[in-house]
Amino acid sequence: MADNESATASTTDQEASKSTETKRWADVAEEEQDVAEASSTEPKLDSLAIDDSRLGHSTLTDPDDSSIEAVTSGDTPYTSAKRFEDLNLSPELLKGLYVEMKFEKPSKIQAISLPMILTPPNKNLIAQAHNGSGKTTCFVLGMLSRVDPKLTAPQALCICPTRELAIQNMEVLLKMGKFTGITSELAIPADPANYIPIQKRPPITAQVIIGTPGTICKWMLAKKLGMSQMKILVFDEADHMLAESGFRDDSVKIMKAIAKANFSCQVLLFSATFDDAVKAFVSKIVEEIFVRDYNQMFVKKEELSLESVKQYKVHCPDELSKIMVIKDRILELGEKVGQTIIFVRSRNSAAMLHKSLVSLGYEVTTIQGALKQEDRDKIIKEFKEGLTQVLISTDLLARGFDQKQVNLVVNFDLPVRYDRPTEPDYEVYLHRVGRAGRFGRKGAVFNLLCDDRDDLIMGKIEKYFNAQIAEVAPWNSEKEFEVALENAGLL
Ligand code: ADP
Ligand code: MG
Repeated sequence: MADNESATASTTDQEASKSTETKRWADVAEEEQDVAEASSTEPKLDSLAIDDSRLGHSTLTDPDDSSIEAVTSGDTPYTSAKRFEDLNLSPELLKGLYVEMKFEKPSKIQAISLPMILTPPNKNLIAQAHNGSGKTTCFVLGMLSRVDPKLTAPQALCICPTRELAIQNMEVLLKMGKFTGITSELAIPADPANYIPIQKRPPITAQVIIGTPGTICKWMLAKKLGMSQMKILVFDEADHMLAESGFRDDSVKIMKAIAKANFSCQVLLFSATFDDAVKAFVSKIVEEIFVRDYNQMFVKKEELSLESVKQYKVHCPDELSKIMVIKDRILELGEKVGQTIIFVRSRNSAAMLHKSLVSLGYEVTTIQGALKQEDRDKIIKEFKEGLTQVLISTDLLARGFDQKQVNLVVNFDLPVRYDRPTEPDYEVYLHRVGRAGRFGRKGAVFNLLCDDRDDLIMGKIEKYFNAQIAEVAPWNSEKEFEVALENAGLL
């Protein structure tokens, strides 16, 4: 029988919602934070020059075309890496990159950030880069190259907001590190059937741990996850991991424990978004806990939208017509172009849309946090293997989910803040859009609007990102949807 621990931690989103059943991380928007201003000891501005001509030519649109501002502190010189060979990686890792991953050369953000991560004194890094631009490779290579394969103890820890993302990052680590012999373990809520309380397990000896904050904290408190040999700590989706309404408490707890056990541990924080409040908090906390300077990489807010993903809005007369648009227009055309993710605001909305589409004869699957872990895993696996084409999701998959074949994203409901439903959740919007157009691929997003509030929210999103979102009108015109997909480069 599952004990209390596994029952309460049966889903990652439950880990974050200590208070109420309905408060899910995915649906919980960030609350206004009263965050102290960033430290006055700003690092020295020293933009790292990237000569694009040296990066060679890509058949894809460069996944990170816009300017990235790198702010390095101190006087460690960094040279951007034109080739993976420039990074002093082990032959085993290079083999993983070329043979397993089939990568040819570093993307722009990899070229900039990897030298900062790998060059001694291995400074801490706060890095923002576009969705789909290859951040995972930056921190997975960071972890794999800093681990000492001869030392049988946890040396790298990566913390993610959902079990789905932890599993996905682990898959990348296993593939990229295939020839290194480095050991790893997932720290995510276990299936109740296979659950062994951490107290009954031997201490963790795997060299790389990837997991969700609740489970990691549990392992840490049970003294089963030793921190004294920890060389590198990574936060994926770092803004959410350190947002007040996200996983701030657990994240800070883990950071403090590691700093106490091994003061020289390197911290990497990656995300496509860092709103001003979180950015200020993150900079302050990293400096306070690890008491040393750090490097930074940032993208301007206006340049965060993905150029390769075309965004549209569709005014629908009512909710039923939103379903009709999905059925008659988007799914019909979508079949020709690839896979589709439809984002909804709540578990209820997910269930309603699922039922409607299935009763109309469409094959769709749905993922949300209340499902059993094995069902969540199965739905993701089927979608990743291309066995299913259309996936309905709450914001559980808004961040990080990487599937190259997804080129249509539908916002059945626009993302709004949990505490203030008239306010858009800009970060979640950007992350949802970023599920299409991975690594410079083409994509399209359809925002379905059906009342004044939707209009207001859409307007605010356009203003925030300084983007004009084209309208597809009238809502039931087959021709207009075709034109939209043509303009997105998908038909
Ligand atoms: P994000 O920045 O959103 O975390 P990911 O790390 O998930 O992006 O990478 C997006 C996609 O780009 C993945 O499918 C990954 O395999 C691919 N990718 C990353 N780096 C490279 C590279 N150097 N060459 C080719 N593909 C790459
Ligand atoms: Mg990512």
